[in-house]
Amino acid sequence: MTNHSRRDLLKAATAVTTALCSHGVAALPAPHVEASGPTADAEPAGKWQPFPLTAVRLGPGLFKDQAEINARYLDSLTHDRLLHSFRLTAGLSSTATPYGGWEEPTCELRGHFAGGHYLSALALASVTSANDEFKKRGDEFVAALAQCQKEMGTGYLSAFPPDLFERLAKGQSAWAPFYTYHKIMAGLLDMHTLTGNADALPVAEGMARWVAAYFVGISAEQRQRILRTEYGGMNEVLVNLAAVTQKERYLETARLFEQPGFLDPLAERRDELRGLHANTHVPKIIGAARMYEVSGERRYREIAEYFLDEVLTARNYAIGNTSLGEHWTTPPGQLQGTLAWENAECCVAYNLMKLQRLVFGWTGHARWMDEYERALFNCRLGTQDAHGLKQYFLPLGAGYWRAYNSPNESFWCCTGTGAEEFAKLTDTIYFHRGSDLYVNQFIASSLHWKEEGLVLEQVTRFPSEQGTTLEFKSSRPAPRTIHLRIPGWVAGGAQVRVNGRPLEAVADPGSYVGIRRAWRAGDTITVQLPMALWSQPLPGDDSVAAVLYGPLVLAADWGAGPAAGGAERVIHGRPTTPLNVAPPAALPRVTRGSAAGAAPWVELESKADLRFKAAALDARRYTVMPLYRILDQRYSVYWQAQT
Ligand SMILES: [Zn+2]
Repeated sequence: MTNHSRRDLLKAATAVTTALCSHGVAALPAPHVEASGPTADAEPAGKWQPFPLTAVRLGPGLFKDQAEINARYLDSLTHDRLLHSFRLTAGLSSTATPYGGWEEPTCELRGHFAGGHYLSALALASVTSANDEFKKRGDEFVAALAQCQKEMGTGYLSAFPPDLFERLAKGQSAWAPFYTYHKIMAGLLDMHTLTGNADALPVAEGMARWVAAYFVGISAEQRQRILRTEYGGMNEVLVNLAAVTQKERYLETARLFEQPGFLDPLAERRDELRGLHANTHVPKIIGAARMYEVSGERRYREIAEYFLDEVLTARNYAIGNTSLGEHWTTPPGQLQGTLAWENAECCVAYNLMKLQRLVFGWTGHARWMDEYERALFNCRLGTQDAHGLKQYFLPLGAGYWRAYNSPNESFWCCTGTGAEEFAKLTDTIYFHRGSDLYVNQFIASSLHWKEEGLVLEQVTRFPSEQGTTLEFKSSRPAPRTIHLRIPGWVAGGAQVRVNGRPLEAVADPGSYVGIRRAWRAGDTITVQLPMALWSQPLPGDDSVAAVLYGPLVLAADWGAGPAAGGAERVIHGRPTTPLNVAPPAALPRVTRGSAAGAAPWVELESKADLRFKAAALDARRYTVMPLYRILDQRYSVYWQAQT
């Protein structure tokens, strides 16, 4: 949420390396290795599509553990408490104790988590875990919201009365009423599209009709003023509603949320993002991307592709996320001096990944799945603690530590997007294009592709294991191509074996290798993806670099952080940072190597344990490990390298 808003509230409290292996055909009679991806500028003949969430299940390991932690957190929340402000707003009685923080009855964002993120997370968890309890809870919650809407009688549904919207219309300030409204609509739509809840759709449609009515009599100029206040993904959810209902009028309502002042420079490939609030603007681009998918207007696609490429190249940190104090504060490519506590708001990573999935769906480019992996392993894993509490910022200043929301007294935006993220960890592992399968992520899981009669299990301890194995449990005899991502970080060449026999040709890093054959039950594909140490400079300052091992950003262990459970680790109430955080320490100084990208100051100690060591110039020695594994310690991610 915007700094301005936080101040208010604090007062009150690849390129397409088309996998063209040089040989084209592998040494084995079958399978057949082939080009696997679009040519550079070709319009794809078919879209790369995700599977329904019911088709993929997590296997034992890191990701399943995280999903279960999140599920227990969702389970710990009580409906009467979540519904308290909705019921009072609708004129119904409630004696429940409301939750605190951004859900407390005086907070202008109340309902964003309770009726929005929570409902989306329940819908996601119910289909990714096959736990009927989540579906039951979701249905119960939808029924309660429907009752509130009915009491209000205008289609309006929120945990605060419509006067916040009236204030916006008068040009007065209100925190972000449309932002909250979007979350509630999205929760309802998720319950409908993911779990088949039939009652949720008319409630969402009622909300959309209220939005259209709100803008009647509001001039275009006044509307643009209203849109200066954060509105989340209002355009996206309305496009989604139009797609689900096939009603054009929702697309027209979605267009009311367009801001030429923001979109036009992007359409002209100009980065005018400096000064903008990151998490206000990424969702607008997701809406534009969905508008392209539903309306076919190519301008929206060009905007989305330019924006994503620009943010990832000129404004991202090595962890796969962006922003300082929630904003883009610098000219593009100039991140020097921005390492601080308030880096990388977690919601922004969630939204950038959502955009990467969409753009991947248009292009099939491995780059977007490399980026997705980078964000997933470095700024999503680790941002949830063992109790399901979530981080807000991911500090990148030296000597900081991780801090989390309190269980019942915070309910930040990042609590909400985190609750959704860890309920949908399966959604990007596999995609398909027609009957071709794309293996995008290396995560222990199984895929049941009903329409194609394909059952496949991915067995891996990645990233502790540098590779993965796919086991075919059943498959129709018809030939099909399995496309495997060969990540851009692979060092020294990937190796692929089919039933133990090596393929002679494998795709270049940063592309997909396609293997075509009539797959049978019992077939296996084993992929080895060797990792090596490499470094990535901070945009704008080549002397400051992060070190990576394969896709993993490494961090130096600075010793024990503040006590677990204390005020510096668990933040109560509305603030999003612990009070009185000191300025960051100086980055560890190290000697830079002669080769660009090398990181001679870090040494591998144990491949299996992903343990490293580093010696700084002040003679201090560090234990170094993947950032996602540093949970309680102080750490630093970047190094000051000098020749
Ligand atoms: Zn957030």
